[in-house]
Amino acid sequence: MAKYKTTDEVLSMSNNISGKVVVITGASSGLGEVTARHLAALGARVVLAARRKDKLDALVAELTNAGGQAIAYQTDVTSQEEVKTLIQGAVDTYGRIDVLINNAGLMAIAPLSDTRTDEWDRMIDINIKGLLYGVAAALPVFQKQNSGHFINIASVAGLKVFSPGGTVYSGTKFAVRAISEGLRHEVGGSIRTTTIEPGAVDSELKFGSTHQQSRDFVVDFYKHAIPAESVARAIAFAIEQPADVDINEIVLRPTVQEF
Ligand code: NDP
Repeated sequence: MAKYKTTDEVLSMSNNISGKVVVITGASSGLGEVTARHLAALGARVVLAARRKDKLDALVAELTNAGGQAIAYQTDVTSQEEVKTLIQGAVDTYGRIDVLINNAGLMAIAPLSDTRTDEWDRMIDINIKGLLYGVAAALPVFQKQNSGHFINIASVAGLKVFSPGGTVYSGTKFAVRAISEGLRHEVGGSIRTTTIEPGAVDSELKFGSTHQQSRDFVVDFYKHAIPAESVARAIAFAIEQPADVDINEIVLRPTVQEF
């Protein structure tokens, strides 16, 4: 007959997150910031990256004051050198990396006919190339450790084209899914790859459009956005699985969201 565990025994069991070193890009706001808080509360050692260092420093102070472990690197993910410095810094400080959350992103919505090619470039540079720089920097570390976990943030806009307006953004998120699946296929074995595809989640993302009509539409669409904690919990679920279980995709959206 199975021996049931006491509550104390259950609570003392490892959550499979405690002690893990988790690097998070785009940790200065929204999903990244809230995920850092959630994982640090579960015992992860978090390495925070974004361009706004003041926000990262404030978060490090908050997490360490609460008894957590956190460090920050000012990182622009469009710079391969800065992403390398981030990953090397995490290894130098904590000796290893267990999870890289490629989360930094930009959503600039505008009709294609407006040809805002500077915004197309920025979305491609941040959402696709920034993620690839993360893979390039962390993969050798994971291979040397014979373990590691990529968590790539795509979107429901990577499942269905968000058009008109979101065509290029959708293109970047379709690319995130394609790259994640290829990555899983190529480097699996001991390295896990998870793609998270959220619908509308409350964050600063909705303010990323300079095209006023699109911006108004997006802000209105986000009236029913769900809190960023919903994504943080999905990420924690993927991390806490035993090493031989790879959660490959999680799609989550507000219950009322049709798209
Ligand atoms: P936010 O705008 O709140 O956060 C974006 C984060 O990315 C910020 O921390 C920002 O920090 C960082 N960032 C932007 N550009 C760069 C850069 N060049 N280098 C480093 N960091 C950068 O939006 P979210 O939290 O919502 O977005 C996080 C991810 O989730 C994105 O990939 C987004 O596409 C995805 N997503 C979001 C959804 C939503 O509804 N919110 C739905 C589906 C997917 P800083 O400016 O300090 O550099």
